[in-house]
Amino acid sequence: MSDSLSVTPVPAFADNYLWLIHDSHHAWIVDPGEAQPVIEMLSKLQLVLVGVLLTHHHGDHVGGLPILRDRFPHLVIYGPQGPLIPGITNPVKEGDGISLAPLNMTLTVLEVPGHTLDHVAYYGQGRLFCGDTLFAAGCGRVFEGTPEQMHHSLDKLAALPPSTSIYCAHEYTLKNLEFACMVDPDNDVLQRWHAEAQSQRTQHLPTLPSILGRELQGNPFLRVREPALHAALERRWGPMAADPVTIFTALRQWKNQF
Ligand code: ZN
Ligand code: FE
Repeated sequence: MSDSLSVTPVPAFADNYLWLIHDSHHAWIVDPGEAQPVIEMLSKLQLVLVGVLLTHHHGDHVGGLPILRDRFPHLVIYGPQGPLIPGITNPVKEGDGISLAPLNMTLTVLEVPGHTLDHVAYYGQGRLFCGDTLFAAGCGRVFEGTPEQMHHSLDKLAALPPSTSIYCAHEYTLKNLEFACMVDPDNDVLQRWHAEAQSQRTQHLPTLPSILGRELQGNPFLRVREPALHAALERRWGPMAADPVTIFTALRQWKNQF
């Protein structure tokens, strides 16, 4: 029997996905904001939890840790350095290679400050786990860092291979696409994407994972060098510089009010 790797979404709260990475015996969980849905999925799939990946300190990403640690005392817990998340066994930093033993998967750590200062993403074998930094057709709010930091973090993710699958932490796709269609109305990719996402949500299916290549064609926050977006911003806000940081900052501000 082949024991290939799967990545299964575990819905939590109103719109979070906790990503379960597993073979037919062992599992790792990304950002367990809640323990109960993870425990139920483990028992449904008959899996043993061996480790946890954390992207940042927000409660909807780490809140389930205490219960999971009680239940699985030998958990390996990777997460950002610093005092904000108690219980991390293996703090990570930019460039670290980590192995999700005994799964056949290795990932590299990317520091992506902006949403929070401690935010990290995990990339490997064609998959990116990016928490609240990059969303399908959108990006996270800039809570702790500067817009410039967030823009650089998104640029770093945008440089990964276009075939990369994007496992973000929230089902925000439809709302993000409504905004994207408004600011980039002549982009055909967005019209098709919106129709597809609407049909997925009507059937209660996740719109994720996304694919980086499509993000590059449609996500306005990765397209800050496009003249069409500069033009849309000037129509809304008046004359403005066309440099990527200015465009990103204005787009993010507009989205916050949308
Ligand atoms: Zn967050
Ligand atoms: Fe979140």
